Amino acid sequence: MNPPAIQIENLVKRYAPAKGATGEAAEGKLALNGVSFDVPEGSIFGLLGPNGAGKSTLINILAGLVNKTGGKANIWGFDIDTQRRNASRAIGIVPQEIVFDPFFTPYEVLENQAGFYGIAAALRRSEELLAAVRLADKRNAYARTLSGGMKRRLLVAKAMVHSPPILVLDEPTAGVDVELRRQLWELVGELNREGVTVVLTTHYLEEAEELCDRIAIINHGELIANKPTRDLVDMAREKIVAVTVSDDLTAAPAHDAFTKVDQTATRGVEITYNKDKFSAGQVLAILQEQGLTVEDVTTREADLEDVFVQLTSAEE
Ligand code: ADP
Ligand code: MG
Repeated sequence: MNPPAIQIENLVKRYAPAKGATGEAAEGKLALNGVSFDVPEGSIFGLLGPNGAGKSTLINILAGLVNKTGGKANIWGFDIDTQRRNASRAIGIVPQEIVFDPFFTPYEVLENQAGFYGIAAALRRSEELLAAVRLADKRNAYARTLSGGMKRRLLVAKAMVHSPPILVLDEPTAGVDVELRRQLWELVGELNREGVTVVLTTHYLEEAEELCDRIAIINHGELIANKPTRDLVDMAREKIVAVTVSDDLTAAPAHDAFTKVDQTATRGVEITYNKDKFSAGQVLAILQEQGLTVEDVTTREADLEDVFVQLTSAEE
């Protein structure tokens, strides 16, 4: 097996406190609290977590835009502290925020970036990259006239100018419509098939599920899972049925079929069960056997939030 494309070890980031901050805020925000994981070479790796989890902080540390407080990281075997230039050359980053000089054309954006990396004119790939991101016909349009989706595609091309073996996309589909999202994923898939290791951050479980071979989840600056997508999806095989019964509950119902039971009100209870093994009908039948009269029922699939709850409670 090849060494990992990216290795992150015990990464810590505490942002400086705002001036005059008091109490807890005076210590500054602890955005990453000792995060470690490897990104396997050749994978599409998803870094998943809710807003504020620390995803961009981690990406921006890799990009050299944010200084870490502690820990280590290497990119393609290059230490980001001691071999920054080589580390930067091995990675292309599509930032969460779209920023362009509005008066450059897509072609100029790519040429300027190639110049920044000192790539000789004969070795530049501007035309090829514009074609790859389906912007050849916008070659000479001002960046400000491009749609949001086009701008994001241009950012992907810009990130690939120096042909890095690793491409990182920070929330690439925020504010992108369904069709453009599909195009973007096709492009990412194409690059990956050509051998590029891809890291993307998202707060959509479905998106990560669809694209990534492996998913790491961070929450409040801590890694709470890092598994092959299939294993993680299996954890979301749960369904929840919320039931209102006609009499006050003296005790929460219990049964082997129930993964979890939450009494939510004097007459309300939420029961989690594995949808591969049981049906909502069976859950209701069990409740009736236990002498409860069900008045109202709603069911829902377990979502990322539930997986979080499951993972964080499993940790304790
Ligand atoms: P994500 O990308 O997962 O949404 P971020 O990495 O942007 O999360 O933010 C993680 C936490 O760090 C949040 O609480 C955010 O408010 C805080 N944070 C981000 N950037 C800064 C900054 N420059 N100064 C202070 N706090 C910040
Ligand atoms: Mg972010």
